[in-house]
Amino acid sequence: MKRKSILAIASLSLLFLLPQVAQANEMSQKVQEQTQKIEKLQKEVVTINDKQTAVKEEIEAFDTRAVTLENELATLHTEKTMGEEEVKIQKNRLAALEKMALLQAYSQVTTVTDNSIENQEERIESVTEELALVEAEIAATMATIETEETTKIEKMAEQSSLAKSVEKMEAKIVKEEQTMERLKVEEAAAKKAVEKAEAEKKAEAARLERTGFISPLTRSYSISSGFGQRVDPTGYSGTGHDGIDMPGSAGEAILAARYGTVVEAGFHASAGNYAIVKHDNGYYTYYMHMTENFVSVGQTLETGQQIGTMGTTGNSTGVHLHFGIATGVWSGFVNPTSFI
Ligand SMILES: [Zn+2]
Repeated sequence: MKRKSILAIASLSLLFLLPQVAQANEMSQKVQEQTQKIEKLQKEVVTINDKQTAVKEEIEAFDTRAVTLENELATLHTEKTMGEEEVKIQKNRLAALEKMALLQAYSQVTTVTDNSIENQEERIESVTEELALVEAEIAATMATIETEETTKIEKMAEQSSLAKSVEKMEAKIVKEEQTMERLKVEEAAAKKAVEKAEAEKKAEAARLERTGFISPLTRSYSISSGFGQRVDPTGYSGTGHDGIDMPGSAGEAILAARYGTVVEAGFHASAGNYAIVKHDNGYYTYYMHMTENFVSVGQTLETGQQIGTMGTTGNSTGVHLHFGIATGVWSGFVNPTSFI
């Protein structure tokens, strides 16, 4: 019961500590941020398009008003022509009256009075005034048309500038969406890496359940020198190689293959920086040639806890971990490959 719960906690903490999980979370965060960025840009485009629609409507209103004003102007021009005709007619009439008055002075045959000449002059004055009013109205209407046309040109410039900025924004969105595609691919890859790492850790947990040990490395390993294959270079276990050599890179993490207590830790001319851990299942595990040793005698370790970093200290010709399993301290070595 107790062992089971410790194993469960150990495998749980292993999953929690996976660097792939952190990386996948970071990628998901980035995708989310990118989504928000694109949404914001799309909202901006909608705003600009709304503005553009409003300006277009204004321009259309200008066009409608221009037609009305042109019609008004045509009417005014007709009125003006008629007014000018009227002035001409009335002036002719006045000339006729004046001629008749002159004739009257000689012959006294007609009944033209000063009064009727005065009336005619007043009529001409009134018609001329009306004509002046029509002309003023024409000038005002033309000024209005000119002003409206200037404003319309400004509005059209505004509209074209808005259209240009929409184009720019849309190009930006396309670019951001491309970034998004890339991020999604990266996110998918990161998720796959998590799946793979989780599967590996599950296999590791299953192995721990079955054999009592996990691999001392965070990855699948190869063996450059197997158990019992050669004359031992360390001088400790007689004629055979008392563990397995796992090549790797300097600084790589070395993990406790099972929870236990450190019984030896230090430096030895042959083993280099090394540690021996005693386990509750009757076995000891050995870790040698480390660059750094993170543990000390008496320390209790959890399964998968880092013991040190891989190196080539002591009697070693290259970076590797010498990993051993034994039933005693420097005695009873067994082949680790049947455990991990
Ligand atoms: Zn070795």
